Amino acid sequence: MHIAVLAGDGIGQEIMVEALRVLETVNLPALRLDHADVGGVAYRNHGSPLPPETLDLAKTADAILFGAVGDPELDGLRRELRVESAVLGLRKELQLFANLRPAKAFAGLENLSALKAEVAGAIDLLILRELTGDVYFGEKGQRETETGLRQGYDIMSYDEQEVARIAHVGFKAAQGRRKKLCSVDKANVLQTSVLWRKVVEEVAIDYPDVELSHMYVDNAAMQMVRNPGQFDVVLTGNLFGDILSDQASMCVGSIGLLASASLGEGTQGLYEPIHGSAPDIAGQGIANPSAMILSAAMMLRHSFGLEDQAVKIEAAVANVLADGVLGYDLGGTASTSQIGDAVVAKLSAA
Ligand code: NAD
Repeated sequence: MHIAVLAGDGIGQEIMVEALRVLETVNLPALRLDHADVGGVAYRNHGSPLPPETLDLAKTADAILFGAVGDPELDGLRRELRVESAVLGLRKELQLFANLRPAKAFAGLENLSALKAEVAGAIDLLILRELTGDVYFGEKGQRETETGLRQGYDIMSYDEQEVARIAHVGFKAAQGRRKKLCSVDKANVLQTSVLWRKVVEEVAIDYPDVELSHMYVDNAAMQMVRNPGQFDVVLTGNLFGDILSDQASMCVGSIGLLASASLGEGTQGLYEPIHGSAPDIAGQGIANPSAMILSAAMMLRHSFGLEDQAVKIEAAVANVLADGVLGYDLGGTASTSQIGDAVVAKLSAA
């Protein structure tokens, strides 16, 4: 199990320590960890947020554990040197087209959601966002109209292969869950969505055991706060997924609790918390490491097929929260290392 450990900036360094302690606690076959710089720390040490040696390591590793990047002192750098470009570079170079963000209510934390406790308590969904296409990667620019007005434009497009490959990931994920897939688009307005919907329906023929529904993105945003419990797998494109996945995560409670996986065609994947480097609390030892630990669990499941160990880690985190070991983000006083200690203790006792 060759893992590229890219802790990055700010709290990325602090939470990674705890995730690695957890990995050492579960019973794993030969584990090889190789560390490399990414983000602001990489820019300072090597002049690039994604140095060639880091990219080479990421390409050869079985999986990448990624902390966070972001350094306010480097915000003035030009676009290609901005530290956040390291994440986009890794996704592009490794062709990680599928972004999985599970959002599940934790027992005892329902009151921390922005939603009513009984609504939040029913959340158990997976947002599956296409990551390498859509309006983010189409032709874009600024120009002048014939009448001399300044105009910005971004071309939205998906070809049928791009839609089909993410749809297959979605149907397979649904088969391992409650067998419901809701495809979110804007087919009443966008031709890209008309094709998206058609291709998803064609792929659905291969998965007769999965119940397929379609929803317009505006309605999906509304349903996500009205009745999120209705969703199992939510399949959507890059732009809509960007927005809906943040919305879904905040329905659960703290940003410090949510993990994500970015996958390509094979088993290689990049696993990271959904939050950033949190410069406002970096260095204080108070970041919640749960999202990072849960990202490591996703890595065991998706890149190494170690479902038992993944479930054990997820249960340990949930039990620690249920015991009331809460970080500052959840109104508690537990430090980063105390939360790590508690998860390790649960795993050791199991
Ligand atoms: P952020 O996610 O870093 O922080 C938002 C808020 O949530 C902050 O108040 C922070 O203290 C809190 N928070 C985040 N994670 C937490 C945790 N584990 N425990 C406790 N509290 C936590 O977002 P931001 O402040 O908008 O961005 C900071 C930097 O991170 C920026 O440079 C941004 O570009 C970058 N960023 C990187 C990624 C990534 O690496 N994938 C993602 C988002 C933002």
